[in-house]
Amino acid sequence: RSNPHRRPAGPALEEAVALAAALPGLDVVGAEVVGLPKAQPGRLFGKGKLEELRLRMEEAEVELVLIDGPVTPVQQRNLERDWKVKLLDRTGLILEIFADRARTREGVLQVELAALSYQRTRLVRAWTHLERQRGGLGFVGGPGETQIEADRRALDTQILGLRRQLEKVTRTRALHRAARARVPYPVVALVGYTNAGKSTLFNRLTGAEVLAKDMLFATLDPTMRVVRLPGGGDAILSDTVGFISDLPPQLVAAFRATLEEVLEADVIVHVRDIAHPETEAQAEDVRTILASLGVTDAVPVVELWNKADLLDDDARAALEVQAARRGDVAVASALTGTGLQAFSDRIAEALGEERLRAELHVP
Ligand code: GDP
Repeated sequence: RSNPHRRPAGPALEEAVALAAALPGLDVVGAEVVGLPKAQPGRLFGKGKLEELRLRMEEAEVELVLIDGPVTPVQQRNLERDWKVKLLDRTGLILEIFADRARTREGVLQVELAALSYQRTRLVRAWTHLERQRGGLGFVGGPGETQIEADRRALDTQILGLRRQLEKVTRTRALHRAARARVPYPVVALVGYTNAGKSTLFNRLTGAEVLAKDMLFATLDPTMRVVRLPGGGDAILSDTVGFISDLPPQLVAAFRATLEEVLEADVIVHVRDIAHPETEAQAEDVRTILASLGVTDAVPVVELWNKADLLDDDARAALEVQAARRGDVAVASALTGTGLQAFSDRIAEALGEERLRAELHVP
């Protein structure tokens, strides 16, 4: 169990399960919160729990175990051997999902780079652990170390190669961006917590078939579409990555270039699942990520309080009152299409462009 202080166990477990479901082909057979004993450096769990879990996994024929938190390389190796399963920790799982969702060359390279950097830090940790096991007996240059040094050098070479390729791709994208800047369309960037409804909204507004499954991370690479507005104007709609709480720092670094696309936007649309019990905490996560990317008050943010169809009439009416008071919010449902007119009005106001006041085309 990771971050026990951040969230109550229930929603955290739900989030972890949803994260697992984001990887196609996985069938989640069980999930539970396990309190961990203080000192179990080798195996994470206490003896009794270890055996209990082993029996249950054997029974359910479990092949993959996800631990929603950090697992050291030594723990991973031991647990995989004890349980005869493949094990992924949170970062490992997120990397798998990102790899699965990467749709552009840049996205693929970013994931590979993040995976290699992750492997490299784990090598270092494995090495430090070996050192400690030797109990400071001065075994400098033992066989383990030589092998790890060699592995590390090989990884460094690969990482350098990937960095170079990525730089090239990033330069190409800068050219694309410059070309886009010559097109006088305002850029509207969709951001939001994973599963908030960004893809659904994007599809509804563009009529395009992008991923809209009930998964976290429906999008990895920014996708751009021109939205034709019946009033005569056009806007470029940009669907960016899905945000997630506790995105491992290596991944934030790896995807910085992609995330920074939002800095180019004329208006940012923050899509929120307003029916989610953790909607406030999720919104805070998104704001924190935006701030860390350098998004300032100079870029107007419109909040789309999505999934309003899931609320009862009273709750929805209360939200409408709040939204009217704030002025930068639209209560809507990307699924049913209600409220999207008000949404397009909010965007138009944020852009300060009369021509965008026209109805967004809602198929
Ligand atoms: P993304 O991760 O932000 O791109 O989220 P998606 O667009 O993939 O939506 C996640 C899930 O929420 C999908 O199952 C959608 O069908 C569902 N969804 C999206 N918008 C709405 C909405 O307005 N109402 C309801 N009830 N479900 C929605």
